[in-house]
Amino acid sequence: MNCPLCGTSKSLIVRRSDLQDLKKAWLGSFGFDPFPSDYVVKQIDKNRCASCHLEFFNPPLYGDAEFYAKLSKYPWYYEQNKWEYDVAAESVTSLLPENLLEIGCGNGYFLEKITPLGVGAEGIDINKDAVAACKEKGLQVDAINVFDLTKSYDMVVLFEVLEHMESAKALFDFLTTKLIRPGGHLILAVPNPDGYLKELDVNLLDMPPHHNSSWSLNCFEQLQSLYGLTLVEYKKEPLRYVHYHSYLQYVISSNANISTPTWKSRLFNKMQALLIRMLAPLTYLNGRERIDGQTHLVVLRNDR
Ligand SMILES: [Zn+2]
Repeated sequence: MNCPLCGTSKSLIVRRSDLQDLKKAWLGSFGFDPFPSDYVVKQIDKNRCASCHLEFFNPPLYGDAEFYAKLSKYPWYYEQNKWEYDVAAESVTSLLPENLLEIGCGNGYFLEKITPLGVGAEGIDINKDAVAACKEKGLQVDAINVFDLTKSYDMVVLFEVLEHMESAKALFDFLTTKLIRPGGHLILAVPNPDGYLKELDVNLLDMPPHHNSSWSLNCFEQLQSLYGLTLVEYKKEPLRYVHYHSYLQYVISSNANISTPTWKSRLFNKMQALLIRMLAPLTYLNGRERIDGQTHLVVLRNDR
């Protein structure tokens, strides 16, 4: 499989996962199997492009509406206050674009946040329920495919959307030649592959059918030569307490190696919970110094 961003055929396999193991892990963690019943794939590989450093999954698999409906039932899935909203709002305040488009705006929390700045803010999303909720709040949002847009904008923003999208190459071509005016800005926030996610062996949500690509700072830097997008700002989210908690949980249970539920494992789980409750507040600040948080954000200028 060629790199979806730069098209080169040279890439390294950085991790191989067995589909049966993933199915079992999904059932254990989320109570359902997200893979199609007629899916014939045996393994999913994470590849790293030798040229642009994008990490992408082979074969890719994009979750359908039913998959997202199941995930979005979890209260943590759509958060109202996100670190990246505050950081991007600061960029909007300093760059003061005349108009702005958010791709994948969900329930419109970011658009609501920047409304007081008087920017002509619009959004698009493929989720019709989310669009209806935005319209009820008086936001200018449509259920339209990004490639069907004909207007151009001073600023385009995508929060936690890029890693779910197909055809990265076509998207960046469209963004830089049609959607963003010359000299306009693009803000991207994605999971930080060098943050705490790196410490976890397998993160089910950071692979198909949820995420299909992984974007490091190194990869964003390549966007200058590939698409004329100049990196003007880079920010990393600090490690959040809740993520530090799950990190500790992972470190302790992966060293325990208990798989079948017995009285011993139940006792272990109780001890683990107690230990983490005691340990986390004491070691969190130190952990925050050593480990980056979940998300990172770039501001890029369209110099194409
Ligand atoms: Zn590449």
